[in-house]
Amino acid sequence: MIDTKHRIIFDAEKCVGCKLCYKACFVDVIRWDEEKKQPVFKYVEDCEHCFWCEAICNKGCIQVLPDYESEKLLQTFDRYL
Ligand code: SF4
Ligand code: SF4
Repeated sequence: MIDTKHRIIFDAEKCVGCKLCYKACFVDVIRWDEEKKQPVFKYVEDCEHCFWCEAICNKGCIQVLPDYESEKLLQTFDRYL
């Protein structure tokens, strides 16, 4: 179990249900709520911090806030060093 304080802030009021963030996420962090027609940020500890979801949302609903002290983030950077 990876200890993380990563956060993803989602503004549901601005969301138009376009599903782009859901399609952009290549891991299992973003799921889709069929009833609400909105993303659900389910497994934030698995986030790879690619910022795709934040970048692709043209309504500005998503803010990815990595925990720069966490073991998981260091693992991600190690992979590209
Ligand atoms: S990309 Fe933005 S507007 Fe579209 S579903 Fe995701 S959060 Fe909502
Ligand atoms: S930053 Fe990347 S990995 Fe993390 S939730 Fe967004 S799209 Fe998924």
